Amino acid sequence: MKRRLPIASLFLLAVACHGLGMHRGEETPAPRDVARSVDDARLRAAGADPTTWITHGGTYAEQRFSPLDQINAGNVSQLGLAWSYATGTARGLEATPLVVDGVIYATGSWSVVFALDARTGNELWRYDPEVPRETGRKACCDVVNRGVALYEGRVYVGTLDGRLLALDAASGKKVWEVQTTDPSRPYTITGAPRVVKGKVLIGNGGAELGVRGYLSAYDAKTGSLIWRFYTVPGDPSQPQESPALERAVPTWKGGEWWKVGGGGTVWDSMAYDPDLDLLYVGTGNGSPWSRVVRSPGGGDNLYLSSILALRPDSGDLVWYYQETPGDTWDFTATQHIVLADLAIGGQTRKVLLHAPKNGFFYVIDRESGKLLSAEKFAPVTWARRVDRKTGRPVEAPGVDYRKRPVVVKPSPYGAHNWQPMSYSPQTGLVYIPAQDIPSAFALDKHFRYRPGTWNTGTDFSVIHGFPRGIATGSLLAWDPVKQRARWRVPYTAPWNGGTLATAGNLVFQGTSDRRFVAYAADSGKKLWQTPVGTAILAPPVSYELDGQQYLTVLAGWGGAFALSGGDAVAALDPRAGGQVLTFKLGGNAEMPMPPPPPGPQPLAALPPAPKDRKLVARGEALFTQNCVVCHGYAAVGGGVLPDLRHATPEVHQSFEAIVLGGARQSQGMPSFAQFLTPEDVEAIHAFVIQRAYDEHAAMAAAEKKAKRR
Ligand code: CA
Repeated sequence: MKRRLPIASLFLLAVACHGLGMHRGEETPAPRDVARSVDDARLRAAGADPTTWITHGGTYAEQRFSPLDQINAGNVSQLGLAWSYATGTARGLEATPLVVDGVIYATGSWSVVFALDARTGNELWRYDPEVPRETGRKACCDVVNRGVALYEGRVYVGTLDGRLLALDAASGKKVWEVQTTDPSRPYTITGAPRVVKGKVLIGNGGAELGVRGYLSAYDAKTGSLIWRFYTVPGDPSQPQESPALERAVPTWKGGEWWKVGGGGTVWDSMAYDPDLDLLYVGTGNGSPWSRVVRSPGGGDNLYLSSILALRPDSGDLVWYYQETPGDTWDFTATQHIVLADLAIGGQTRKVLLHAPKNGFFYVIDRESGKLLSAEKFAPVTWARRVDRKTGRPVEAPGVDYRKRPVVVKPSPYGAHNWQPMSYSPQTGLVYIPAQDIPSAFALDKHFRYRPGTWNTGTDFSVIHGFPRGIATGSLLAWDPVKQRARWRVPYTAPWNGGTLATAGNLVFQGTSDRRFVAYAADSGKKLWQTPVGTAILAPPVSYELDGQQYLTVLAGWGGAFALSGGDAVAALDPRAGGQVLTFKLGGNAEMPMPPPPPGPQPLAALPPAPKDRKLVARGEALFTQNCVVCHGYAAVGGGVLPDLRHATPEVHQSFEAIVLGGARQSQGMPSFAQFLTPEDVEAIHAFVIQRAYDEHAAMAAAEKKAKRR
């Protein structure tokens, strides 16, 4: 009961703030006033004003909890669509929309930014940063963007090609732009910036291809660089950029990681505690993935797969906690960070809650960085447990894939990925979009660094696909104090959406099987759902306008598992097409329903079946090495990018011109001339054709079986 008091007082404050703000029937504020009021004071007090959603996780603590309760467990059955806005995109949408003064700010594929009237969904402005389409090759996990930051009348966005832009919130016109990365390296930005004390914080990604991770702080007014914190050492024969990095150097042994990059990218999560003045960021996996390639002499490889606590004014490291020392499985610690005050062992502790890819749920003292507890929240085979005294995982025997391929759980898709979790101070539970996906790892014994493409030091060709049923997901309600599940809603597929908890005893989540669902936050009982046109990955937000509570969520299928998941994804009957969906009680707008993607070509339209089995096998190996991350394991499309088994005769005729000649570069399909020979492409083409025949054979067998029944 102790926990109730601060929430009740917050809510009273919220009501008071609302009384001073927008009144019923008041017109949408003039665009020039929009978002100007978001300043340091308002960002620090964001939790006191539940009518808005002014920063990525709702507040600096990133709990994604809305104190609004007009929509509640008693009336959520009356929820309906208020309006929808077609983003005009067909790739993944992952953004958290920000909402203030009646305007919604969000981002779509290719880092496009748009502002919408929150009452009607009418577009106020749209800014396209015109990201060159060949940048798509650098993006491990789709051409996505997770949203903007607002501060003193400006909208900040990181673009896929590594720029940070400041836009005028009223007009959408560009105020300044800086390149935050070296364009000659495969850096991308997909994460949302945050603003702390006048500094715009932005990280980057690219560790699958090979980069060195860092976080940058820019002056919000001018765009000048204030500080940069590199997360992994550079060439050890040279001086490092910070004392923290000098301390990290001895934890890297042998190898030439700095030539590939080392990894540790800060590609998503950040949170801020204004009282402690600590900025928390999560760092990514090693680059290359394989630790025997990256650091053959062993070592923890600081600061990979870690939570870092930094001073926002200087970028100085105050403490770190490494979740996966010597990561070798693409176990990022970049998943969503939540700050909360929990009663543990009879005292209130300021903690940081984290459910990273590696499958352990961590409760960390956020003042000291000391581990309080860590337990498995999903099937985990790589480690037996985390030792509470040392804070280190106890690796399981037999997970070293140096000598032979090993199946490991979780997979690089994570027991939990970027889809944000939420925390309800009312129930004390954390709502995690959890998943259970195995993956096989094998060492690439002949690894050589190939700039511009994937450099993991592992051999993907041991993975032949994700058959239906092997990969599942769930909505998991986790008690962080008792470190155990309170309830769980199982899903047939992974890659479901981020969550939102509300004071109406509700948890909202979109699903990969195209639903938007409300559950009772205390029991997990399903209270309401609606079909949606395309799967939802992004987290919903809630706000209030004219005395009415709204929910907004972006719907748009895509991201890593959607692109590569093969049969596991095809079973979802996925649809492409981006929408912003806004719901309210009594809403009765029509849900947009995109058509299914084109199906198989008739047999007669296929090129002749390949006869050379060796050519097909070589094609499969090359396909798995070069193509699966976008076109799916076993060439089974995920509904986002073309399913190559369904390629038209025109595509077959121009296969080499597309793959080597870059004939479809403007559509995001870059040339692979740097990596593949015409003979390689012939083999890949043979494999793709074979897969089209395989699908026809499977359909014929299914038809025969159905007739027998
Ligand atoms: Ca990664």
